[in-house]
Amino acid sequence: MPTSVVTGSASGIGAAVCEQLKNNGHQVIGIDRANADVIADLSIKEGRQSAIREVLCRAEEKVDQLILCAGLGVSVTNCGLIVSVNYFGVSELLDGFFKALQAGESPSAVVVGSVASVQPGVDDSLVVEKMLNNDEAAAVALAKEINDPMVAYGGSKYAVSVMARQKAVAWGKAGVRLNVVAPGAVETPLLQAAKEHPTYGEATRNFVAPLGRGSRPEEVADVICYLASPRASFIHGTVLFADGGMDAMIRPDRF
Ligand code: NAD
Repeated sequence: MPTSVVTGSASGIGAAVCEQLKNNGHQVIGIDRANADVIADLSIKEGRQSAIREVLCRAEEKVDQLILCAGLGVSVTNCGLIVSVNYFGVSELLDGFFKALQAGESPSAVVVGSVASVQPGVDDSLVVEKMLNNDEAAAVALAKEINDPMVAYGGSKYAVSVMARQKAVAWGKAGVRLNVVAPGAVETPLLQAAKEHPTYGEATRNFVAPLGRGSRPEEVADVICYLASPRASFIHGTVLFADGGMDAMIRPDRF
C-alpha cells in the first residue's frame, strides 16, 4: 500500500486529494492546523520540523507521494504569514521528506502553485528574491513592509514554482519526480474568502476563466493524483496549469 503525505488535508483541494488517494488504496497521512492526522503549524520552523518528525515516525521513514496543498490566500492580512506558509512551508517540507521519498516506490512530489504566479509583475519583486535566497526573516519582513497581499500571494506562488523547478536536476537524478500544479479559481473556502474581501473581492469575482466557471476541488485533485502517480512516470519539473484557460488568456505567447 503506497504511503502518501498531504498538507492542507483538512479543507478544499487537500481534502479532495486525500479522499481520492484513500479511494485508490493509499495510506494517507494528512497534515493541517486542525482535523488532521498530524496537527502542525506550517507557518513556523518548529511546526514544520515537528510535522516532518511525526510523519517520518508514522511512515517508518518511507514516503511514496508527497502533496503540498496547505496555503493562505489574499484575504489574509498578515503578508508575512502568506510568505511563511506558501513558500517556506513548502520548501522545508520538500527538503525534510527528500530522503524518505528516495526510499519510496515510484516516488514523487506535487506542489500546489497558482495561476497567480503568471500575473504581470509578480516575478520581479524583491520578496521573491528573498524567498529564493531562502531568507525567511528578510522575506517576511519585506512582505509585511510592502503590505500588499497580491504581491505576497502571487510572489509566493511564483517563487515556489521556480524553487520546485530548480530542484528538477538533483531530484531527477535521485529518481524522485517533482511537479507543480497551478490551479485557477477553485471553489474552496480560500476562494470564497477572496471573493468576499472588501479590496480584492470584485477583482476576484471578475477574474473568470475562458471555460466560464471555477473548478471543483475534485477536478484539481484528479490532476494532482495523476501527476503524483506512476502513470505520469516521465513528467518531471513541469508546471501544469489546471485553470480553465486562465494562463492562456493572460499570456498566450508563453508556455
Ligand atoms: P483551503 O483554505 O480550503 O485549504 C487550505 C488548507 O491549508 C486549510 O485546511 C488550512 O488549514 C491549511 N493551512 C493554512 N495555513 C496553514 C498552516 N500554517 N499550517 C498548516 N496548515 C495550514 O484552500 P484551497 O483553495 O484548498 O487551497 C489549497 C492550495 O491551493 C493553496 O496552496 C492555495 O494557494 C492553492 N490555490 C487555490 C486556489 C483557489 O481558487 N482555491 C487557486 C490557486 C491555488
